[in-house]
Amino acid sequence: MEGKPMVYFKSASTPHAKDALHVSVEKLMEKTNVVEKGDVVAVKLHMGELGNTGYIRPILVRKVVDFIKAKGGIPFLTDTTTLYGGRRGNAVDYLRTAAINGFSIASMGCPVIIADGLRGTDETMMHIDGHDIAVATSIAEADSMVVLSHFKGHGMAGFGGAIKNLGMGCTSKRGKMWQHSASKPEYDAENCILCRKCIEFCPADAITEEEGHILINYERCWGCGACTVLCDQGCFSLPSQWIQKFQKRVAVAAKAALQAVDGRASFMNVLMDITPRCDCCSFAGKPMLEDIGILASRDAVAIDTASYELVCDAAGKDVFHEVHGIYGMVQVEEAEKLGIGTGEYVLESV
Ligand code: SF4
Ligand code: SF4
Repeated sequence: MEGKPMVYFKSASTPHAKDALHVSVEKLMEKTNVVEKGDVVAVKLHMGELGNTGYIRPILVRKVVDFIKAKGGIPFLTDTTTLYGGRRGNAVDYLRTAAINGFSIASMGCPVIIADGLRGTDETMMHIDGHDIAVATSIAEADSMVVLSHFKGHGMAGFGGAIKNLGMGCTSKRGKMWQHSASKPEYDAENCILCRKCIEFCPADAITEEEGHILINYERCWGCGACTVLCDQGCFSLPSQWIQKFQKRVAVAAKAALQAVDGRASFMNVLMDITPRCDCCSFAGKPMLEDIGILASRDAVAIDTASYELVCDAAGKDVFHEVHGIYGMVQVEEAEKLGIGTGEYVLESV
């Protein structure tokens, strides 16, 4: 057991008020604390797309903020703008959405700062394994980071946890584009009813219709995967080799985000409301299994591995693979190869 990272676990089962999840957050934070007096601390989380209800509950986040303040840190909540449509594509829309979802200076007791600026171009370049990765500046300039991740399914990564939150969540639009551009959709005309939804939605204007045929301009395509989700006829798909390339780039970007804060990060994964799709959707959907609990660790690979294994144990199968046909651990295994952490861990209940 010596040398293996610790992953601390609080079960969702709370028979007494003293075991309530928000009370346990303080214990989990204490076990994994990286905050030093005077640190400006980025509390990185997804504050939910407008209409989604599956994101991490504000009361749990408030407990994290209060803990950081008690340690003498200066916390701010943060996330980055999205590549595609929705209500978080620029900082103003995101701050409005965050406030509606329960995250504001009034409710949290600390500011909310969109880390890549008004339009997602405020970035700091990090050189990682031969790649230049654009990390959002307000994260790169923080002294330390607490990464709060809602563990749930994801249409391109299989699932989203700490690695996905670091890689995709901590990069600017350019950084996100680099990760997505590893994958391009394929189109099968067989069931196409020419409804044109894909043409209207594609954020890169990469889809056109010519004489009754749908065409993809691969030079323009960002590889965001939106068309694979929105086409009701299932005409678009992402080949698995491209999905894996995407997952591996997420791991590289995660390493860049961690390096930007000199590795001074702790992680908390919330295994509740485990929905098939991610919090970027404008609806949450029905959870696939009962709530499991909350995990905390200093190791991003260990916490995602433990989260995945707990979900598989509870469900008796890989529910993410069943829903998306994607093996989500590719991103985590790649992160381990890159030296971000280790998949062997010790689980301890608190
Ligand atoms: S959304 Fe699907 S069915 Fe509609 S035009 Fe595009 S490919 Fe065809
Ligand atoms: S993946 Fe689909 S929706 Fe996204 S940019 Fe490419 S063609 Fe457009």
